[in-house]
Amino acid sequence: MFHALVSIKQVPDTTNIRIDPETNNLIRQGVPTILNPYDAHAVAAAVEWKRKLNGKVTIITMGPPAAVTSLRECIEMGADRAILISARQFAGADTWATSYVLTEVIKAVHAEDPIDLIFFGKQAIDGDTAQVGPGVAVRMNLPVVSYAVKIHDVNLEERSVIIERKTENRNEVIKANLPAALTCEKDIAEIPYASLPDLVYSLRYEPEVWTAEGPITFDPAQLGLKGSPTTVFKTGTPEKHVAGEIIKTAELGVDAAVKAALDKILGVEGMASMLGVKK
Ligand SMILES: Cc1cc2nc3c(=O)[nH]c(=O)nc-3n(C[C@H](O)[C@H](O)[C@H](O)COP(=O)(O)OP(=O)(O)OC[C@H]3O[C@@H](n4cnc5c(N)ncnc54)[C@H](O)[C@@H]3O)c2cc1C
Repeated sequence: MFHALVSIKQVPDTTNIRIDPETNNLIRQGVPTILNPYDAHAVAAAVEWKRKLNGKVTIITMGPPAAVTSLRECIEMGADRAILISARQFAGADTWATSYVLTEVIKAVHAEDPIDLIFFGKQAIDGDTAQVGPGVAVRMNLPVVSYAVKIHDVNLEERSVIIERKTENRNEVIKANLPAALTCEKDIAEIPYASLPDLVYSLRYEPEVWTAEGPITFDPAQLGLKGSPTTVFKTGTPEKHVAGEIIKTAELGVDAAVKAALDKILGVEGMASMLGVKK
């Protein structure tokens, strides 16, 4: 039987992230949360293949108790089981510590019920690093196909999957052995309308809660802030580009326009010495 696992993250419902200037952490108070959009499409793809191959879908997330709402949303989309990994020891994790926890959980689920495909979103719209999916795949020694836009085939007998991925200027079609991991673009699948039974089931669904104490054992040194080798040192918004100035030869004449342009360029601090010109 086909078994897909989707790793999802609950994120603030905005691309306009507000950062605490003191701590450099996200300000979460007062910001509504959503299922990370790329993850929603990954869940849709997993459910599509579950229906094609008569399988099942497990969802996991590491996050605060409120992430239960995102897990229920995945159940509403047709997933079968959901696990919330939540404890104060996991807080403040960077992508290294996040991928450690997710890997340990995925290994435990896999040992009890072998997984064929592990889905991630392309990136989370808050942290934006796109490191967690590949990080888990490397820790598990699995093939990973990033920026996936289409799953062409899953062959459970041959133990292979054919996935199309997007690159900057062309698409690539890749065959990988199962189990494999993929990080998904939104094109991977359309979000389906929930069926009435799935909707009703999701309203009452209580996800399993896994903590630092169990049901599996984690190395405490690798959790949360303590297990995170990176910290966000500084954040800021890039300066807005101002519109360029147009110097019109029709108004000034060619010579004066060229001189005016040169004066502007050489007036930029450091430009004259960079170009080797004496002002
Ligand atoms: C502004 C800002 C900058 C940051 N920069 C860095 C940085 O440079 N380096 C760093 O290590 N950390 C950074 N972090 C911390 C980062 O939020 C956490 O490491 C986070 O747990 C995962 O990183 P991400 O959000 O970038 O996820 P991504 O790697 O972008 O997420 C990709 C996919 O991984 C899965 N995933 C991600 N998080 C979880 C989760 N908690 N549970 C289940 N699945 C998950 C989802 O499928 C998601 O679509 C930053 C945070 C902020 C707010």
